[in-house]
Amino acid sequence: MAEIPITPPETTWKCSNCGNTIVQPAPPQTCPVCKQKCEFLNVTCYQPECGFTGVDNRLKPAK
Ligand SMILES: [Zn+2]
Repeated sequence: MAEIPITPPETTWKCSNCGNTIVQPAPPQTCPVCKQKCEFLNVTCYQPECGFTGVDNRLKPAK
């Protein structure tokens, strides 16, 4: 029985200013959308209920 390696989901960062989300290992210095040095929130979801898509839908702003 070969072990199946578990790949963790990529980290998703959400701009606190414009709500843009970026998937990369570390938060960017400046947001590529609003060009501001925003605070980036880690919205990565590691829960099965999110479907392992990497983003917690509950953290997305309602439109
Ligand atoms: Zn932004």
